[in-house]
Amino acid sequence: MAQRTFSILKPDAVRAGQTAAILAELQKAGFTIVAIKKMVLSKPQAQGFYAVHAKRPFFDSLTTFMSSGSIVAMVLEKENAIADLRKAMGATNPADAEPGTIRKKFARSIEENAIHGSDGEETAAFEIGYFFAGHELI
Ligand code: ATP
Ligand code: MG
Repeated sequence: MAQRTFSILKPDAVRAGQTAAILAELQKAGFTIVAIKKMVLSKPQAQGFYAVHAKRPFFDSLTTFMSSGSIVAMVLEKENAIADLRKAMGATNPADAEPGTIRKKFARSIEENAIHGSDGEETAAFEIGYFFAGHELI
């Protein structure tokens, strides 16, 4: 059965003009776009999104980065979307990412790593609801 996941093209990738190239990778990997919007997060909005990382040493830097420019927020759909997106993204640190993955191709650093993807069903439900209203997901 088709599953939905949530993804963000992060400010580093959008700033670098990589939006269309990464969307093409996602299309090639079999994802369809259910909903998509370009926006700039406020720092409190970024802090709310990454609240699970609030106690990590990189939290302030991460949320400053995530609110530093436009992002593209998306709901993506395919069979096994959550796990398959994580696979297509590659490891958090692009230095550790497999060849051919989005982070290997596009990311700059462990922080400026081009793309976010939900890491589980509960996270996906929270993250989709954080960015999109029900009527935007039909
Ligand atoms: P994401 O949640 O964005 O999809 P992830 O699940 O691969 O990435 P997490 O451990 O959830 O990785 O970390 C969230 C984000 O915080 C990372 O994508 C990265 O931007 C940033 N980050 C993670 N670890 C570090 C670190 N050691 N130093 C700086 N930034 C980091
Ligand atoms: Mg994560």
